[in-house]
Amino acid sequence: MMDTLAEVAQLVKHCTDCPLHQGRINAVPGEGAAAADIMFIGEGPGSEEDRRGLPFVGPAGRFLDELLASIGMRREQVFIANMIKCRAPQNRDPLPAEMAACGKYLDRQIQLVDPRLIVTLGRFALGRFFPGESITRTRGKVRRKDGLFIYPVMHPAAALHRQENRAAIVADFKAIPSVLEDLARTAAVEEPEVQEPAAQTQTPQPQQLTLFQ
Ligand code: URA
Repeated sequence: MMDTLAEVAQLVKHCTDCPLHQGRINAVPGEGAAAADIMFIGEGPGSEEDRRGLPFVGPAGRFLDELLASIGMRREQVFIANMIKCRAPQNRDPLPAEMAACGKYLDRQIQLVDPRLIVTLGRFALGRFFPGESITRTRGKVRRKDGLFIYPVMHPAAALHRQENRAAIVADFKAIPSVLEDLARTAAVEEPEVQEPAAQTQTPQPQQLTLFQ
């Protein structure tokens, strides 16, 4: 069963549903606040993540920490997950079959965290919600999909060493607090959506609003 994030993590750690489990040191389920306002979705573990079993703890992760700090946040306040939970050989791109096999865990994490905003990091997480769309065209704009609010940004690893990408991701992160404020304001006046009664009852409003009050 996947009734809690801890249960999802346990299943991920023992998962053998795709061949990637054969090469892992550790599966990387994801981590963070169970009722986070923001959920980040990256691509998949790199070597440092594989070694430690934690998401975004290598060079891209240090940059992600900096980006979070730039908006006054720490990683403990958000939830950080990935499209695939086991490292791909030589950090190659995740295969569609691997993302499909891992999708049940990410789907459940999204349901359980029930974030106000999902920030996709890079093209694979973007493709989970908007298949085939370009990151350069979609980045920095909130879009709605299946009752979720998705905010695509570049992958921190892609932005780390290229100055123009770096400026773009820094700017997109700077906008996150106002994106959240806008969503909170809209939610306060909008009728609850008919198709997502579960989401409405799972996360009480006051808890969601505390972060930026
Ligand atoms: N890159 C990712 O996409 N995810 C991680 O966890 C680390 C690096």
